[in-house]
Amino acid sequence: MNFKRNCFSIITLLGSVFLITACGKSNDFVQYKYLDEVTISDKPEAAKDGSWVKEAQFESYWASTKTIIDPVFGELKQELGTTYEVLNNYTGSKILNSEGERKLLVVPVDFADYQFDINHEDYVENVRKAFFGSAKNNKYVSVAEYYNRSSYGKLRIKGKVCDKFFTFQKNVTGEAAKELRREDVKEAYNYVITDWYQANYHKSIDEFRLDPMDPESPVAMYFVYAHPTDNANFFWAYTFEDTPLSWSSYTTMDTFNGEPDAHTFIHEVGHMFGLKDYYPTEDTDAVEPTGRLDMMDCSVGDHTGFSKMVLNWTRPYHVKNSTKIKIRPLVSSGDLILIKNNWNGTVFDEYYLLEMYVPLGLNFFDSNIGNSKAKLPSLPGIKIYHVDARLGYFHKETAHSTSLTFDGYCNVTGNGDPNVLNPNIRIAHDNSTPQTVTEVKDYRSNYLYELELNHVGHPEAACATNINLFHKDDSFTIKEENFNEQPNNTFFKIDIKSISYTSATIEIIKTN
Ligand SMILES: [Zn+2]
Repeated sequence: MNFKRNCFSIITLLGSVFLITACGKSNDFVQYKYLDEVTISDKPEAAKDGSWVKEAQFESYWASTKTIIDPVFGELKQELGTTYEVLNNYTGSKILNSEGERKLLVVPVDFADYQFDINHEDYVENVRKAFFGSAKNNKYVSVAEYYNRSSYGKLRIKGKVCDKFFTFQKNVTGEAAKELRREDVKEAYNYVITDWYQANYHKSIDEFRLDPMDPESPVAMYFVYAHPTDNANFFWAYTFEDTPLSWSSYTTMDTFNGEPDAHTFIHEVGHMFGLKDYYPTEDTDAVEPTGRLDMMDCSVGDHTGFSKMVLNWTRPYHVKNSTKIKIRPLVSSGDLILIKNNWNGTVFDEYYLLEMYVPLGLNFFDSNIGNSKAKLPSLPGIKIYHVDARLGYFHKETAHSTSLTFDGYCNVTGNGDPNVLNPNIRIAHDNSTPQTVTEVKDYRSNYLYELELNHVGHPEAACATNINLFHKDDSFTIKEENFNEQPNNTFFKIDIKSISYTSATIEIIKTN
């Protein structure tokens, strides 16, 4: 289950949603027009001297799932598929495929015992703008526009905002408020699917199922509730891991002059496609591994390079030898540089990832206006990330355990508990505080995704800025000891030779 960090709700509390007036006729809903074509090539490329390679697609991931035990050879590795298949089939999550046309059903939710001070017509109109409207309708962009542009045209989120309200099945004020559980949101979801939609619209909900031909297939649904975000357990923004279901408040849109702000919706929909939070989720965490500079961190800007690889929107240039390489801004081109010797060809490995940031396109709004806790840098720069997205085996101690025990990394032969059939396979690390586990000590002391800072001026628990990115004449050295997995024999020196708003030239020297 995922939480949205509360960067945008701060604004909501300061500004007042109750001052909202009806949207003006000059800003009526206009449907976002999807890009005509995919603007990024899937053709394989390679440097003439072989110093870098860009494959046509990611490799399939292979791991033992304990379901095939050969009498002679023991466990046999199985092909688990590429990123989407692995995340959807082996991690316990139920996610949407992030390519092609995806349907989302958006349902306004109200409460019998709580009066929200806005008329239903304006409510539905503003939610429609935030999910499917044009840029003119929005402070930033709609969910549909964001995902269409961030994916370079590969993903088209379509669907519907219901014009009728689902009235929540439980009271939410007084003593009743103490009894509210997140499971109640799932009950509402199931009721909408089995009864409410058919009763109100007199047609089948099947067109919104992940697989419209399968009546058992889940529906991708987003509840926008008519209540402030004032209870971190229940009235908060979250997305369920085992159900494609998000829940967040109308107030996060902070609508002004008929223009909503869709940042929170965009962040939550990221979880529906399997993305993780990059901010530390424990309140006591002092370190911000990605410096708040991302949609899955502080809900700002375009998705980052690792996210775009997970979503299969782009593939990196894999550096194999010393080279000089020119990359364009990630936001408009998908260009990425991946550094690791013997990379396994999937997103599920440990490696360094370089992307070129510019304060343009989907980054423009948050580099200019921003929010109270995060503002994107105002200058172009290179972001260098350490990724540790290795998969691990996990199991529950008992059927009722809520936590999982780590058994070892999938790429290491002999890991996992041989007595467990169909072990839970998931990305071993996240960006929260390391926690000691029983089976393999301190395995979480590695972050999933960490921004390498350019030296100075960054309090650990704060937003990274211009000076933390890498600019002309800056260098960074990757040594074997920077990696968690040993040995890996990776030594590279990175020099930023030039950078403008349109491209950067980076020299990478292999030093071993
Ligand atoms: Zn989140």
